[in-house]
Amino acid sequence: MLVNGSKEDVEQAVRVLEGINDLVEENPHAQAIRYVIDRWAHEYPKVVSLDELASEWRFTINMDKVIEYLESEGILPSRASEAAAPSFDLMSKLLQMFPSQKEFYTRIVKAVTGLAVARYLTDPHNRRLRMIYATLQAISAHLSEGDREPVHEIKGYSCKICGKTFSSFTEAKSHVQHEHDFEVEDEESAIEEILGRKLGEWVRLSFFCEKASLYGVSDFHKYLRYMLTKGALIPQEEDVMIKRRGGEEYIAVDEAWIRVRERMRMLERQLIRSRRAV
Ligand SMILES: [Zn+2]
Repeated sequence: MLVNGSKEDVEQAVRVLEGINDLVEENPHAQAIRYVIDRWAHEYPKVVSLDELASEWRFTINMDKVIEYLESEGILPSRASEAAAPSFDLMSKLLQMFPSQKEFYTRIVKAVTGLAVARYLTDPHNRRLRMIYATLQAISAHLSEGDREPVHEIKGYSCKICGKTFSSFTEAKSHVQHEHDFEVEDEESAIEEILGRKLGEWVRLSFFCEKASLYGVSDFHKYLRYMLTKGALIPQEEDVMIKRRGGEEYIAVDEAWIRVRERMRMLERQLIRSRRAV
């Protein structure tokens, strides 16, 4: 899709991959991968010297490991086959397609990093990346289920009886108790939330449990806290937002992650289709 699709397909793929890049920006593995791709792209069509790269290396992860990985994924040309045929690696292709677009060039670096990292996610030794992977898979399970209940910003509360509005639930409740004492049995049923913009969607907590255990995330609470700091979950008083409905627990997942995951699924389906076509 990145190299065979229409301009619009390419744009979309780049956007998704940039999204993944941004999600894992602070990860030291992702930074090392991006550094190699960035240096390589800057030198293109000259070949970046490995000695030079090694002398500037400031990451804890082994440089050769990163380069071998990028070669094995077909993202950078393989040094072993260099003499044999012109290379068909992804980076050369993209840079040939968009030789003079400066802004797009920066995006390509980010996008290819996103792609490299997305594949790297399956490496069982990267604990943090496993958490991100588990999250993406939990959201994917949610999208397959099709039960898409939105999470809205709550702008206030209104009294269903007289229509008066309040900024907090406590104020609204006390209003109902004191003003409409004789008319209501249950104060909560007389209070309506005033909804603002859509923030995300309610996702079954069991999807997160299931995927976390599947991908070897040991401390579930710590995992949710980490995803909260990454903006994947919607915060509520510095903790994750959970609600119970019909014996099931739901967690509030940020809109951006839902959208990125939707686009990724579309991309995955197109990749699978084009692989079958080959
Ligand atoms: Zn009232």
